[in-house]
Amino acid sequence: MRPFKYTEGKDETSAVRAVVVNRESKFLAGGTNLIDLMKEYVERPNELVDVSQLPLAQIKNTSNGISIGALAKNGATANHPLVRQNYPLLSMAILAGASGQLRNMATNGGNLMQRTRCQYFYDIAMPCNKREPGTGCGALEGINRIHAIFGWSDKCVATYPGDMANALYALDAVVRVKGANGQERTIPIQDFHRLPGNEPQKDNNLEHGELIIGIDLPKNNFANKSYYLKVRDRASYAFALVSVAAALETDGSNIRQARVVLGSVAHKPWRSGEAEKALVGKPATDATFNAAAEAALKEAKPLAHNGYKVELGKRAIVLALQRAMNGGAE
Ligand SMILES: Cc1cc2nc3c(=O)[nH]c(=O)nc-3n(C[C@H](O)[C@H](O)[C@H](O)COP(=O)(O)OP(=O)(O)OC[C@H]3O[C@@H](n4cnc5c(N)ncnc54)[C@H](O)[C@@H]3O)c2cc1C
Ligand code: SF4
Repeated sequence: MRPFKYTEGKDETSAVRAVVVNRESKFLAGGTNLIDLMKEYVERPNELVDVSQLPLAQIKNTSNGISIGALAKNGATANHPLVRQNYPLLSMAILAGASGQLRNMATNGGNLMQRTRCQYFYDIAMPCNKREPGTGCGALEGINRIHAIFGWSDKCVATYPGDMANALYALDAVVRVKGANGQERTIPIQDFHRLPGNEPQKDNNLEHGELIIGIDLPKNNFANKSYYLKVRDRASYAFALVSVAAALETDGSNIRQARVVLGSVAHKPWRSGEAEKALVGKPATDATFNAAAEAALKEAKPLAHNGYKVELGKRAIVLALQRAMNGGAE
């Protein structure tokens, strides 16, 4: 690991200022992703501004839902009564990730910002446009079993690997950030992460030095019918090959509102408007769920080694919708 300067963030404003004035600096929260990347020389900041002690860990009611602090730990968030009762999909998604120890260290802001698990990104001997723009993409013609089937470009075929964000997409979350001028701004979750295009080095639309301070979740009617399904190589301690955040609101036996968000299939959580259109106004039957799954994967563009994600994605959508209808029971 390279030497770096350690700066303690005393308050939001001074922490933001410290990062804004130094292009080579980064915020440090739980450190569970950033420190790993620094040990591998993938990330090389010359300064870490530690925000972990800032008072941004509250989870509380708001007039229109709840607000979750950026520095609340993943574990505390998943187990908080307000989240468990009103947003069980979010609890399920967080608990599907990492391990108990990691969730007790990792923060919500850091989770949104976690970087891809593309093996070429981690191996500094390999070309990678995300790590070093202009060097090429090792995965495009390499081993791309875990990579994207939607929204990729010839510059990068990586996926966003996290779980929590997929649920946040389904729940219409809004991310609150504080910027260089001391002003706060909000970013709807669907605009937070981005597709790779010609600039795969940018994972999201946060400016350098902007600090995530919280995540707001509006009220919804999905609490009784939602499910997070994660399919992976190992039963724990593994990232998803495909995941599905599914949420339904029904009116009798018909579907009034639906959310279908796929994880680990694109550079950002992939909300399927096609699947949702195939569900809304229809009876909540297996035939409807199958039609939604077909619609969701119709435009998939698999690479040489990840064609299996298309069929896996369809089956995962159907199972997640069935379990959502079943009140989250397996
Ligand atoms: C073995 C292992 C398995 C894992 N499995 C999963 C999994 O299955 N599913 C899953 O979703 N995740 C998984 N993770 C990822 C884990 O959830 C993330 O490492 C964690 O959420 C990052 O949070 P952190 O607070 O530790 O972030 P840090 O490592 O401190 O920071 C990560 C990045 O976020 C930036 N950052 C942190 N806080 C803020 C903020 N408030 N505002 C702006 N930028 C900020 C940092 O500058 C850095 O770039 C796994 C991690 C490990 C090590
Ligand atoms: S897929 Fe993206 S992260 Fe992976 S090697 Fe290609 S450019 Fe790098």
